[in-house]
Amino acid sequence: MAVVNMNGEVVPKEKALVNVYDHGLLYGDGVFEGIRFYNGKIFRHHEHIERLYESARHILLEIPWGRDRMMAEVEKTVRASGMSDGYIRLVVTRGVGTLGLDPARCSHPQIIIIVDTIALYPEKFYEEGLEIITSSVIRAHPNTISPRVKSLNYLNNILARIEASRAGCQEALMLNHLGEVAECTADNVFLVKNGLLRTPPPNAGILEGITRNTVIELAKAAGIEVQEIPLTRHDVYSAEEMFLTGTGAEVIAVVKVDGRPIGTGKPGPITKTLRERFMVLARS
Ligand code: PMP
Repeated sequence: MAVVNMNGEVVPKEKALVNVYDHGLLYGDGVFEGIRFYNGKIFRHHEHIERLYESARHILLEIPWGRDRMMAEVEKTVRASGMSDGYIRLVVTRGVGTLGLDPARCSHPQIIIIVDTIALYPEKFYEEGLEIITSSVIRAHPNTISPRVKSLNYLNNILARIEASRAGCQEALMLNHLGEVAECTADNVFLVKNGLLRTPPPNAGILEGITRNTVIELAKAAGIEVQEIPLTRHDVYSAEEMFLTGTGAEVIAVVKVDGRPIGTGKPGPITKTLRERFMVLARS
């Protein structure tokens, strides 16, 4: 059953309501995490909490709980849901303020932990792979709000996602301000070329995904060389394989970009191996 922890109190989702003066709602002023749990075990819990606190620090948002309390509250909420597999959305907003930007006039941050399920892409795409387009909307310039901050402002990703839907696709590839490959709207990007795995580095205008980092570890353990290097659309179009990683998506193949087949146009062997190894690790 979906449940929500509101500042330490677990309530059914229908009772989980926010104040309309919360600056998370009025200005997108806040940060969040998306975390999965498998067999009752929270996947990469520590890493997600670290990233949350780093994002909060970047926007000068002081989270009223320490990391230990936060992890305990997340565990408590998962137990209260009675679910063994699911998705956690952890949100920290600046809190209730006035009708002006000044965060100093907000009372105190609001901590919301939602435990529910998520299905990012229909099941058939895990078999067949995704067809995606390159979006005309780029990732935010690093001198605006860094894409490394998982903030409550996702409008550029949302605009790209709308563009994808209008093109009949589930996802869009987003470039950075230099025209290099950044990431998809909620996932990181990997290419396979000459048997090597390549992915953009953390400063390429991406969120440094926890699934991404796990897949890099898994690839290295499987003897596959990994390069974190800037990539262009040429690299995409000439890749042997392509796949995306993310908490919601897990690992999913991409078989066509901008109408061009990638490699054979079918999910490739390295993609399949890494997806299998990822699912085994997650469920272990
Ligand atoms: N990029 C963006 C923009 C994201 O929102 C996410 C999270 N869904 C990711 C990449 C993947 O990160 P993670 O593997 O930590 O979920």
